[in-house]
Amino acid sequence: MSVSPIDQLRENGIQATAQRLAVLRAVSSQPHVTADEVAEIAQSDIGAISRQAVYDALAVLVANGLLRRIQPEGSAARYEDRVNDNHHHLICRDCARVVDVDCAVGSAPCLEASDDQGYEIEEAEVAYWGRCPECQTKLLTSSIDSSTLNQPRPRKPRQEESIPPIKT
Ligand SMILES: [Zn+2]
Ligand SMILES: [Zn+2]
Repeated sequence: MSVSPIDQLRENGIQATAQRLAVLRAVSSQPHVTADEVAEIAQSDIGAISRQAVYDALAVLVANGLLRRIQPEGSAARYEDRVNDNHHHLICRDCARVVDVDCAVGSAPCLEASDDQGYEIEEAEVAYWGRCPECQTKLLTSSIDSSTLNQPRPRKPRQEESIPPIKT
């Protein structure tokens, strides 16, 4: 990012407190963090910062457009510093990991409503729900394990592993 966090705050007329700066740094270091995670990161960054101060800072930064708040269904709100580019999110149903997807057409709104009912549409926010690569692998591995191993046993060293005969 070209603009320093202090300048970002000043340009938006927000007082650059140590807490707000720590919250900004925390979110930019780890996109899509929850408020609790921000609190942890900020605490290890500047020491004492109350949860309430973190929530307050997040609210101010979101209200001023420096941070974006997304709230996937069934998950805590998440924060990111990638704002104003109309990007979307891939969300894993299993581990709740969130990653960015660029806007489908490059500018907002990237979806046409089938019926805008007279609304002036500025933005379309898309959440793609599914399963991340790690969770797909985990699922595959666990289904192989449970279908081929009838009783729990310690895993053999890799070189002894062989494909078990297919049950008929
Ligand atoms: Zn996952
Ligand atoms: Zn994002």
